Amino acid sequence: MPVTIGTLRESAPAETRVSLVPEVVAKLSQAGARVLIERGAGERANFPDELYKGAEWGDSAAQVLAQADVLTAVQPLGVSEIALLKPSAILVGFMQPHARLAEVRALRDRKITSFAVELIPRISRAQSMDALSSQAAVAGYKAVLIAADHLPKFLPMLTTAAGTIRPAQVLVVGAGVAGLQAIATARRLGAVVEAYDVRSATREQVKSLGAKFVDTGVSAEGQGGYARELTAEERRKQQEVLDSRIAAADAVITTASVPGRPAPKIVTRAVVERMRPGSVIVDIAAEQGGNCELTRAGENVVHHGVTVIGPVNLPGQLAYNASEMYARNLLNFLKPALQNGELAIDWSDEVFAQACLTRDGAIQHEPTRKAVES
Ligand code: NAD
Repeated sequence: MPVTIGTLRESAPAETRVSLVPEVVAKLSQAGARVLIERGAGERANFPDELYKGAEWGDSAAQVLAQADVLTAVQPLGVSEIALLKPSAILVGFMQPHARLAEVRALRDRKITSFAVELIPRISRAQSMDALSSQAAVAGYKAVLIAADHLPKFLPMLTTAAGTIRPAQVLVVGAGVAGLQAIATARRLGAVVEAYDVRSATREQVKSLGAKFVDTGVSAEGQGGYARELTAEERRKQQEVLDSRIAAADAVITTASVPGRPAPKIVTRAVVERMRPGSVIVDIAAEQGGNCELTRAGENVVHHGVTVIGPVNLPGQLAYNASEMYARNLLNFLKPALQNGELAIDWSDEVFAQACLTRDGAIQHEPTRKAVES
């Protein structure tokens, strides 16, 4: 029997993405899998049903959940959806394990094998599966467009009959995946861009994109290519230099994050008050608490004439490409386990082992297990 890979129309009202796109469905079918899709799953991402060649259709989520051996998803499934999965099912998607403890408990209790794409290790072999990165790149791009849209200024320098217009100054804080894409986008639109990150390894990447690296004299390389949390003294030193660059910027895009920690507060209320009226802050770390003291997730706050935007689900605003990238990430994750239409997971492979959240009635990811059991 070939493995049945199912996908749902995402049930979260604000979610426009879909976890499988037609191109990926064709590849899964070629690999021998049966693909079962809930009708209308791709509609909000502009993938109408008729584009999905070779797929079979479920009229309801319940129908797909009852048949899927592997279910792919964008957002975490709710407890009521988890209850409808087959007992031996495999679930792959974003799980937000730190925040969705009831769902993790339900996955454990139903003995579902769940893979959280957030836990896929950031090693070179797994880059093509790295959904956090693909979606962060979308977010970085979109954040700049939002800033441009709210600024009462052009981004590029313009030479016109009415004289020369100076280019806007954009500061990007955090030069990870989202930050680098924000820098590249702001540069393409002609802004003068500065960027800052605590990891000095980003200096060359920032420069290669045509931006100036803000040197604060603080370096905080952590484990696995991530940053570590700063000491109080390091934070003070960083802040002094950064404050002057923030105050001088027309648009600030903040993307700083440390895994497993709330977003570091980098833009204070006091420095917002030093910015020029009309300036804009787009804080894409809003859902992790925000890099700016004034950020409210999902809202635009105007303070002293400065607009502080805390967007949520930016990839959902670019659902077509975000879904395409996400679906390819899932394909690259699943493909090594797909042989002659059957799924065989090699548990000695660190990618599967580390991405596994629950299996055989146990929570495999230690921090989540502790959080659920405490
Ligand atoms: P990443 O880990 O690749 O990059 C984060 C960067 O922040 C790292 O380079 C790190 O060194 C840097 N950093 C950490 N502490 C810092 C500090 N004190 N000062 C300056 N830099 C610091 O993460 P990413 O994938 O680029 O995502 C960035 C943020 O965007 C995350 O919070 C993520 O959750 C969020 N995000 C939001 C959306 C959305 O829709 N709003 C979408 C995708 C990602």
